[in-house]
Parts: sequence; C-alpha cells; structure tokens
Amino acid sequence: MPGFELFGDEERKEVNDVLNTGILMRYGFDGPRKGIWKAKELEQAICQTFGCQYAQLTSSGTAALSTALAALGVGAGDEVIMPTFTFVASFEAVLSVGAIPVLVDVDDTLTLDPEAVRSAITPRTKCIMPVHMCGSMADLDPLLTIARDNSISLLEDACQSIGGTYQGKALGTLGDAGTFSFDFVKMITCGEGGVVMTNRRDLYEKSDAYTDHGHDHLGVDRGADLHPFIGYNYRISELHAAVGLAQIRKLGQFLEIQKRNHAALKAHLEAIPQVSFRRVPAAGVDSCSFISWFLPEARQTEAVVEKLKAQGILAGNFYWYQNNWHYIRKWQHLKQAASLFPLSAAQEKALQQLEHAQYPASDALLSRCISTAVSLAWTPEQMEEKGQKLAAAIKEVVG
Ligand SMILES: *Cc1c(COP(=O)(O)O)cnc(C)c1O
Repeated sequence: MPGFELFGDEERKEVNDVLNTGILMRYGFDGPRKGIWKAKELEQAICQTFGCQYAQLTSSGTAALSTALAALGVGAGDEVIMPTFTFVASFEAVLSVGAIPVLVDVDDTLTLDPEAVRSAITPRTKCIMPVHMCGSMADLDPLLTIARDNSISLLEDACQSIGGTYQGKALGTLGDAGTFSFDFVKMITCGEGGVVMTNRRDLYEKSDAYTDHGHDHLGVDRGADLHPFIGYNYRISELHAAVGLAQIRKLGQFLEIQKRNHAALKAHLEAIPQVSFRRVPAAGVDSCSFISWFLPEARQTEAVVEKLKAQGILAGNFYWYQNNWHYIRKWQHLKQAASLFPLSAAQEKALQQLEHAQYPASDALLSRCISTAVSLAWTPEQMEEKGQKLAAAIKEVVG
C-alpha cells in the first residue's frame, strides 16, 4: 500500500519549489510565493483524479473526519453509526465534535453490515460512517438507501482505500462527504495530511472555513476575513501538499503495481482449499492494498500467526482480532471513557455500555481473518518467496 515506498525525485522537486520561495503556508503571501500554490494544486488534482466537485485538504485524515462531521452538523447528543472494525481515528473524530459513536457489527466485507446498521438507527442517529477497510469497500448501495430513508447523512471513511471504486465511482465520492488520509503509511502520502471530498457546495464551504479558524476566505486581505462560525486549525502546509502532489501523479502506477503483486500473492493462497477471502461487493473494485483472508477456525488462525512469528515473517500480516488499534476488543481506553477532559454525560454513558457489549458476528469473522499487506517494492523473487512461505505455514496448520 504505502506510497512512501516509491518516494523519489518527483517528491523532492515539488518540495524544493516550496523551499525556494520559503512560503510554507497555503494561504496568503501572494507576491513572495511566486505563483507556487501546492495545496490548491493538490486539491484540483484530487477533484480530477477521483471525480468529485470539491476537495478540502486537512492536516490529517482524523482532522478530515472531524471537519466533515462538523460540516454535516453532527454534534452534541447526535449518534454516528460506525463499525467495530476500523482505526481508532473513527471514534476519535466522532467524540471530537461531541457526538456519540454507536458501534455495530461488520459482515464478510469486513465493513458495516447494512442489517446491523438498520437495527441501530434511533431518533438521534445523525450519520452513518462506513469505513472502507484494507483497500476494499462497504456495500454502499444498501447503506445509502438506509441513509436516504432516514434522512441522515453518510460519511465515507475511505482513508485506507484510495484508488478503490464502487459503481465506477471513486470511494470517498459517493456519500455526502468522504475522506482520505495521506499519513505516512497510506496509498498516497504527504507525510501527514488528509482531505474532505464532497459534491455539495455547502459542505465544501463549511470545510474550507472550519479548517482555518472559521476564515471566510472571501477577500484578498486575510487579516480582514470575517468569521461566520467557530473553526479550528486543521490546515495542511505547503511542504506536505507538495509531497502529495508528486504522489498523486504516480497513483496510477502505484495501483498497477499493487494489482499485479496482489494477484501474484493471492494465487498462493487460492491454491489452499481451506482459505477463503473477504467479499468484495459486486459493484466494487478493490484497490488491492491488502489481501484479507479467512481460515475455517479461530484456533487455526492463531496457530498460523504463531508460526509466522516464530519464523520471523509475521511483518505485513495483520491479525486484527489481537490488534490494539483496529478492533473493539482492545479499545480499553474507549470503553473506560479515558478522556483527559470531561466528556458529556451522554458520551460517557454510551462508552461505558461498550464494556458489556457483545459482537459475536464481528468476533466470528475477525478471529479467523488475516490481512496481508501488498507492497509496492517487492521484487518478483521476494514476492514468490513470501507467497511460498505463507502458504507453507498455512498448510502445516490446516493439513
Ligand atoms: C489512517 C486512517 C485514519 C486517520 O488518518 P490520519 O491521517 O492518520 O489521522 C482514519 N481512518 C482510517 C480507516 C485510517 O486507516
């Protein structure tokens, strides 16, 4: 997945453009910047590449989620439905705007189960937040229908699935808004960064101001800008945007390599009859950044993990069930509402209920699932060796 694996002269050139003017900020300084506007250029490139009307860069993917939620008007007491399998950023963003994360089961797509979402809707539900985990996607059609039927918004967290599509459209562009992360290990990196994508002008205008202290950006004098509402500083810098600009131009190449490596590695796993794979919705095209596969039983999966660990080849194979970052089981800090500052009573109550919440459907999937990351840097020989060793470890366990 990570674009940093192919960091090179293109990135250095873009960064040097910025260093040569010394204008590291994305706004203002029109004269001294000598026509260098990397953040603006990257936003245009995002709109063109992914086919959305508007893009607002942010300082991180988490900031992009917080911004999108704020622009959607999600706040105190509102419930946001999100999956049990995601990155901690999802609930961080929800809590940051004062809202309540409502965690529901995933299905064999490893993303939100539409039936579980339907059951979790209450009069306080304001937003559904599918997370397109590990390169592939949620079945968006039923989720969009549920959102429409209940007059609530849908925010796509596509941070991990840059380059995947659904019904021919880029992931992150089908909901009211969608986000990417450009942190260091994502498909396109800025070092740190993120983006809110939307086709709604109102959401874009709100995101634009919100990420810059509420500045309306209407005049030529930044100091004279008005502030129609309270914002924060979630700005990206020109240096970070410059890296992303070089990376987005190479995205087609990244995805091509990734697809090739994905197919070659997957062939090793497909040869084992006991191995099955995550479901990619019929309307979707996987970005191929991971291969997510299942064994019939949890204890077999654990045994494979132990074998890979013993052989020193576990790196790049993620057993999410035991992972501290990505699955609800280990989110003790969330269940204990361990916040540095007091949360609202409604938030605290909802989080404490998580301590006793059971997710047997998610457990049954995640305890049997390993995601193998697809590298852009593998040589054909390295890939062959990886595939053979992984397959051998699995066969030793499943017989
Ligand atoms: C990386 C990631 C984020 C947050 O992105 P940052 O840029 O690291 O803040 C959000 N959601 C998911 C699913 C991610 O993988």
